[in-house]
Amino acid sequence: MDTQMLINLAYIAASVIFIFGIKMLGSATTARKGNRLSALGMLIAVVVTLFDHHIVSFQLIIIGLIVGSIIGLIAAKIVKMTSMPELVALFNGFGGLASLLVGWAEYQRVAAASASVESLTDAANSVGMDIAVGMSSFTAAVTALAILIGGITFTGSVYAWGKLSGKLSGRPTLFNGQKAVNAAIAALIIVCGVVFALHTSGGLATTMVLLLIVLSLVLGILAVMPIGGGDMPVVISLLNSFSGLAASAAGFVIANNVLIVAGCLVGASGLILTVIMCKAMNRTLSNVLFSGFGATVQAASGKTEGELKPISAEDAYYVLEAARSVVFIPGYGMAVAQAQHAVKELGELLENNGAEVRYAIHPVAGRMPGHMNVLLAEADVPYEQLVEMDDVNPTMGMVDVAIVIGANDVVNPAAAEDTSSPIYGMPIINAHEARTVFCLKRGKGAGFSGLENVLFLRPNARMLYGDAKASITSLVTQFKES
Ligand code: NDP
Repeated sequence: MDTQMLINLAYIAASVIFIFGIKMLGSATTARKGNRLSALGMLIAVVVTLFDHHIVSFQLIIIGLIVGSIIGLIAAKIVKMTSMPELVALFNGFGGLASLLVGWAEYQRVAAASASVESLTDAANSVGMDIAVGMSSFTAAVTALAILIGGITFTGSVYAWGKLSGKLSGRPTLFNGQKAVNAAIAALIIVCGVVFALHTSGGLATTMVLLLIVLSLVLGILAVMPIGGGDMPVVISLLNSFSGLAASAAGFVIANNVLIVAGCLVGASGLILTVIMCKAMNRTLSNVLFSGFGATVQAASGKTEGELKPISAEDAYYVLEAARSVVFIPGYGMAVAQAQHAVKELGELLENNGAEVRYAIHPVAGRMPGHMNVLLAEADVPYEQLVEMDDVNPTMGMVDVAIVIGANDVVNPAAAEDTSSPIYGMPIINAHEARTVFCLKRGKGAGFSGLENVLFLRPNARMLYGDAKASITSLVTQFKES
């Protein structure tokens, strides 16, 4: 068996491990094992690739490994949990950039090799031999795809990072003729790709490749610009899918099987997550990408009547003490306050007091998919107590107390009741249907969408003001001291 065959067999093993690893991520009980298994698959893929005869410089690889590891370690240490989505956006972006660079480097390599054989071509032609120069049309087409998807992913992700981190406005940026400009750029990209696939060497090919790079980078920015901050989770998930597709195209460019498979897995899972998130917001993908959602939020957010009714931790305790059914609804504020451990302690005290306790999780609560699940798992909240939105909503009318911990958009009844609201149609957790709702937040801060929340003005809602961790800790103290 030759080395190439062994390498390919190891790649197949790594791919199978990836698939089983991803499958195990589907359940909280097996997720850690799945993560480790996938990492093992990646280790096999990396080590085996180093045996490939195409490796040109081990020194450069080692330098890259050291620099990358240092950056990764520092990022893991200093990036806060609440900034994870920004980090994920950057990861996607650099994945895209890597694919673009692979496409560009492969073109350069083939162009340099072609230049050296071109001098022989005339002599070969004179004796009737045909020496091929440039890439095959197929390789040129996948190179164009790697550059295109990689370029869009890179600048789109960096723009999304800017929006999420607050460095750029979260509002959609719209201008006249935006769709026409985007369509024109997309048409130009197709023309460049086709010309490159037909003329894969020489000055024309280089011009097409350079144009492709510039146009893809510009299109990435223009595509994310009109999308509002509230839709960023969907965009990030889509860009994650793109980074996988770009990697897969790069795999075709350099004929690396494991890169093709891993890229497809990322591409497909990112797309599935995108669809799930669109469903969670009751929106279509085209509506998310092209509607400029959120541009009119300011105008639509004025319709609020009623008053905010504060409550003290002591009074809230008396209501909780009598409650038989309590649902916690965590949101972004719980992550900011890092209140998950205190929440778990309060949940245990309520249970010991005879209440049924559940944690209702909205799919886009927080700032990244699964954000609340991660925090509650960190606090060892039993997995059986977590309930999904669709399962908890039919029971909300029978709940004595709903405790909204730093959640806002995901419990805004306007999404269900106010047809003029920009978030109308987005599924929410029906906290307002509980007999009493305690809303834990610091002040009058709006949610991520910038909308006022009519829940806080409802007759059954009470505002427990303060940092969520401090408020929950005061409730815990009340229980312990009584
Ligand atoms: P929101 O962002 O709508 O609201 C969070 C609330 O938490 C604010 O109103 C704020 O009010 C309060 N808060 C902040 N810090 C604290 C604190 N220390 N203690 C107590 N309260 C605090 O959160 P939701 O989870 O309800 O909704 C998520 C939103 O984020 C959705 O619009 C979603 O589309 C979007 N999004 C989701 C992502 C995801 O993947 N899950 C990614 C990116 C965006 P105050 O300032 O008054 O305290």
